[in-house]
Amino acid sequence: MRVLFVSSEIYPYAKTGGLGDVAAALPEALIKDGIEVVSVMPLYASVSCERFGIQKSDLRVDVTLSGHHYTFGVYQKGSVYFLDNPEFFHRETPYGNYPDNDLRFGLFAYGTMELMKLLGHFDAIHVNDWQSGLVPFLAKERYEFSGKVVCTIHNLAYQGVFHKSSVERLGIGWDHFTMHRFEFFDQVNFLKGAIAYSDYVVAASPGYAKEIQTPTFGCDLDQFLRDNSHKLRGILNGIDTEEFSPDKDQRLFVPFAKAKDPGKSENKVRLLEALGLGLPDAPLLVFIGRFAWQKGVDVLYETLHDLQELHMNIAILGEGEHHLNEAFASLKGAYPNISVTVGYDETLARRMYAAGDFLLMPSRYEPCGLNQMIAMRYGCLPIVRRTGGLNDTVCDIHERDHIAPRQGLGICMDGVDRYNMLHGVARAVSLYADKGLWQKITAYNEKVDNSWRESARAYGALYTGVKE
Ligand code: ADP
Repeated sequence: MRVLFVSSEIYPYAKTGGLGDVAAALPEALIKDGIEVVSVMPLYASVSCERFGIQKSDLRVDVTLSGHHYTFGVYQKGSVYFLDNPEFFHRETPYGNYPDNDLRFGLFAYGTMELMKLLGHFDAIHVNDWQSGLVPFLAKERYEFSGKVVCTIHNLAYQGVFHKSSVERLGIGWDHFTMHRFEFFDQVNFLKGAIAYSDYVVAASPGYAKEIQTPTFGCDLDQFLRDNSHKLRGILNGIDTEEFSPDKDQRLFVPFAKAKDPGKSENKVRLLEALGLGLPDAPLLVFIGRFAWQKGVDVLYETLHDLQELHMNIAILGEGEHHLNEAFASLKGAYPNISVTVGYDETLARRMYAAGDFLLMPSRYEPCGLNQMIAMRYGCLPIVRRTGGLNDTVCDIHERDHIAPRQGLGICMDGVDRYNMLHGVARAVSLYADKGLWQKITAYNEKVDNSWRESARAYGALYTGVKE
């Protein structure tokens, strides 16, 4: 079994969120299962070939589209291939609000298909999100690919919607611009096209697979997803348990094996010091994530004034929407027990998981969420909104008699508002006072299997088309 895995980001080369982690860890888990995986991503200017030992190969990919000729250099590191075209991919950020994003990622899809021809036979293609959304169409309609095509939706809110002039610009053809294929309110929708032409569509958790078929979570594709429900599956993401392992994590102040070990406390003391936070005996609540409406950060911002009155330290790390960056940046130094870092910082994130007693995830929706799984590995208890993948991975401590195999224990909030957040965090503060219970819970969470093992098998079954 040989699979082509297509993603617009793969950690450690590029990562803007969970997709980068997934695109690194899932192929590795598949390889462990005896599946040969070849991955493809664009070569952004930010990917340092020197640092990662990425080599230029002798291959070259040519694409002719609407009378224009485009060339891609091909770079390689092990089983990961990088398509290089400086005009389209050497931009400040991978996605950004660039007017030619349709062409950038359309060409990425064409380049991928041409590269595939050079690399020999594949049994399946696995694409991820809208950025590789043109691939299923090309595979089925232009390249006569006869294997299975699987598309994973990591976040339905991002669909890659463009003016209908893209139909000609990208060689889609008007016969494919219909309401059952690419057409979406008279525009071209990459993700809708991916759903239409894939054999299987996978949501990043079973909970999210159900939610996206409802108007509340369906982002205007719920009807289309219900029409395609026969090929829709929910497969829970995992995490790379080697990468996210506090006993091996070189980014921590000190590695530690278990939450009860002195190493965990030492990380806390050192992080509090580094961030200028006092109250070493109080719990440390951390928030790590994109500053986006999805993540409920606006509610966190509104509730901070009340939260700072609780006997606890709060550390916030994130970046995203401009107004939220500004709002959080303006809080720097406003409260002695709150630290705010606006930016993307992998090392600080790891140190926060390691030092934190609680991780707050007040997401309005969450396709899967990796933070809560990482937190559980690092002895940091999740406080989550009951939704999507958070629901599939965290069981409220009050409901532990009904815990499911892939769930850890934490605190679940019923809604995203000031009341639920204050209530959830206040529960955390009182839970922290009960050291015995605290240790039992963190010890339980450390044993939860959040690896890719089981989910990689589920993907393997889809590649072969075997009914689960
Ligand atoms: P998303 O919706 O952003 O994909 P996930 O929970 O699936 O959210 O994955 C988020 C990943 O990105 C985690 O590995 C998390 O630690 C990391 N992350 C998010 N924001 C930051 C940040 N500002 N700095 C460092 N790491 C971050």
